[in-house]
Amino acid sequence: MYETYPNVSWSLLRRGKSFQQHILRSLAEKEDFDQYIEYIHNPRRHFKQFIKNEVDRYYTEQNNMILKMFKGNLREKQQIVSNAVKAATAEVKSQSGDGNMWFRCFTTALTDELKLTESSCGDLSEIEDLDFLDKVLGDSLKERMTKLQDSFASINNIKIKMCRKTPDEILIDHFCQCCWVQCPFCKAICTNAMKGHPGDHCVPFHRNNGLNGWHYRGTTNLATDFCTTEVASDNFFHPNSSDYKIPFKKYRKGGRKYAKWSITPDHSELPYWKWFVCRFQDDLETYHSMTFQGNGEIPYEWKRYTKKEALESLDNYM
Ligand SMILES: [Zn+2]
Ligand SMILES: [Zn+2]
Repeated sequence: MYETYPNVSWSLLRRGKSFQQHILRSLAEKEDFDQYIEYIHNPRRHFKQFIKNEVDRYYTEQNNMILKMFKGNLREKQQIVSNAVKAATAEVKSQSGDGNMWFRCFTTALTDELKLTESSCGDLSEIEDLDFLDKVLGDSLKERMTKLQDSFASINNIKIKMCRKTPDEILIDHFCQCCWVQCPFCKAICTNAMKGHPGDHCVPFHRNNGLNGWHYRGTTNLATDFCTTEVASDNFFHPNSSDYKIPFKKYRKGGRKYAKWSITPDHSELPYWKWFVCRFQDDLETYHSMTFQGNGEIPYEWKRYTKKEALESLDNYM
């Protein structure tokens, strides 16, 4: 098992944008409706796949740099082991200890680096010449590390699966530990970084409800309103398609999944989602077997948004 792996400094993280922004940007660039649907309905799976794809892409594009980094990490490990050999020798000599004591000092110094146990080595109590031990180990380490370095001639020699944790696993752990609860109206994901966090779920930008299939009662007209506009209106909704009608202004009374959301009435309508609805109107209508018409007619001004403006809205507002 490799004890070292390239420290992937992901291009996504360097530009100071949120992870969500990168996902939305990537989706818009691909214009793949099926991927949007996965993102809307199963964001966690989409996030994981996105990370895996980005890591694969990074490996393909940056293979020389990764190989260099990998070999640099190996050299660093060699130095750490070499230092531990010398430190153990000095320590044991100063206390007139034996080979077993030397091995204990050596393994303790490397606790964070290597998995070594007392049984990794036989009885060393007979060893008295610690300088000899130091030299033999130092030479052997050098020889083995040179062979190891030579064996990594190209990126293909690095078997990432043998890393303690693969780069995509590290990034998934980092980015996918969040709340994941979705707005009951528009499916926007709560931005709190902690699962089961105290307080309400919230998100700075909601979406238009029609993309989640919300429609006007008794019709097949998909809704175009954003949650933030609805909660300021005098409209009503029927939770779980029941006959029970709740004013949007008192949306928390709709049941548990509504009660824990904080949706602020404002006009924070991200042009991105307006562009999305126009670009994928046909796909959304087919997907939901409903249409944007009648009271769910798409406002004309939405159709004027270009993809460029949609992407700019991510940069400017999110
Ligand atoms: Zn919402
Ligand atoms: Zn939350």
